[in-house]
Amino acid sequence: MNFISTRGAHAEGVSSAYAIKTGLASDGGLFMPESIPSFGENELASLISDSYPTRAAKILSKFLTDYTYEELLCDTNAAYSKEKFGQSAAPVTKVDENISMLELWHGPTCAFKDMALQIMPRLFVRAIEKCGEKKTALILVATSGDTGKAALEGYKDIDGTKIKVFYPVDGVSRIQKLQMQTQEGKNVSVNGIVGNFDDAQNGVKAIFSDEKIRKELDSENVFLSSANSINWGRLVPQIVYYVSAYCDMVKSGEIKMGDIIDVSVPTGNFGNIFACYIAKLMGLPIGKLICASNMNNVLTDFLNRGVYTKNRQFYTTISPSMDILISSNLERLLYVLTGKEKTRKYMDELSKKGEYSLTKEEFDLVKENFAGYYATEEETMETIKTLFNDKNCLIDTHTAVAVKAAKDYIDENKAERKVLVVSTASPYKFANDVFRAITGKYPENEISALTELQTLSNVKIPAPLENLDKKSVLHTQIIEKTQMADATLTFAKN
Ligand SMILES: *Cc1c(COP(=O)(O)O)cnc(C)c1O
Repeated sequence: MNFISTRGAHAEGVSSAYAIKTGLASDGGLFMPESIPSFGENELASLISDSYPTRAAKILSKFLTDYTYEELLCDTNAAYSKEKFGQSAAPVTKVDENISMLELWHGPTCAFKDMALQIMPRLFVRAIEKCGEKKTALILVATSGDTGKAALEGYKDIDGTKIKVFYPVDGVSRIQKLQMQTQEGKNVSVNGIVGNFDDAQNGVKAIFSDEKIRKELDSENVFLSSANSINWGRLVPQIVYYVSAYCDMVKSGEIKMGDIIDVSVPTGNFGNIFACYIAKLMGLPIGKLICASNMNNVLTDFLNRGVYTKNRQFYTTISPSMDILISSNLERLLYVLTGKEKTRKYMDELSKKGEYSLTKEEFDLVKENFAGYYATEEETMETIKTLFNDKNCLIDTHTAVAVKAAKDYIDENKAERKVLVVSTASPYKFANDVFRAITGKYPENEISALTELQTLSNVKIPAPLENLDKKSVLHTQIIEKTQMADATLTFAKN
């Protein structure tokens, strides 16, 4: 299976190892497989009795054909072990007659980024080997919270790699900051940046495009790479849990093999929901993909009008991992539906004018598969409270947005199919707002919110978040954004 750019480069095709090692295509596009492999009902049925790591290895092997099945199984077993994810890596729980929940936050950092970032570093190290690369990879990450910690956990102590994370000092929650500051591992570095997330991201981008820095790193036998969600190595592991969830729903008797389900996904960069779309293209019986947004509802508008416009107000919300105006992975959907020439044209318009409009035919194709809904802050809080009071179900702010979207979709369409709601973070990761949603009161502080929420709900605090305030703080350095390049070089050299 070869990979090509969504904008036309690499027309001859590159290996999956090359796509994973490189991240971005040479023309700025994203890597996509040349064709989408499929499975039939029998093959799907045969996965039902498999464990999560085996399901993952079987599905990954359809896309990563330059990896052996043994390599993939070795990596999936290590990534999704019981030590890291507990009994089941991506369990499905029933909320009511219509709605089931796919819980993707049982990993080491309590958010769904772990599903990809626990395995991607392993695929990445093999990719380096397969490409004959001898240098050390330095992974640079700018984070608004969840990605930084998940990348640190994924890359820590992985041979042949180093990782450096920049976060905005006042732009992440107290829990997120503590999670990063207490990170262990001999190849990790974490810096706070005086500034906001855009400053951190722009700083990282500037380092990537600075020839002088690249040369200097090269002489130290180091090359730069990224771990962000446009890398194919992050997308492909996300296909697995949709297939796995379907198998589990058949196994539990919630649906029969072949039944069509709808899926609601809390969406920011469009990576998670796009992985669901690939699963559908592979033959998984999925009907509508419900794209759930917060007040930054650029995707809701796109799915309702066929016009994407980033020229709009930006909101800081209680579901911060979805506070995004440019959903990078949407480019992959454009590529599938409209082809590389149109994708290049639309991306060009987006960067020059800040918007683009689909043709009617293209928009019809989008609407056939996707429906967009959004939740206000009040609706998000209300959903957390109602689900807890009525169903004894404790959810985080991001998941609440997806539940609200699922309910709106069901009401509007009198939908009768089962809806799978994707739950992307442990409620404890956003304990402050979850506590406030249920009680109407503020907790003592952000750390005590964890125990206060536990007392209230009787749901246990996940082990990685327990005693977070008692762990040693190892990374306290705060730097100006102008110092990011120097800090990177210093870290590369030691
Ligand atoms: C990253 C994240 C999302 C958004 O996922 P995308 O793949 O960017 O659409 C949703 N919820 C949580 C908790 C996240 O960390």
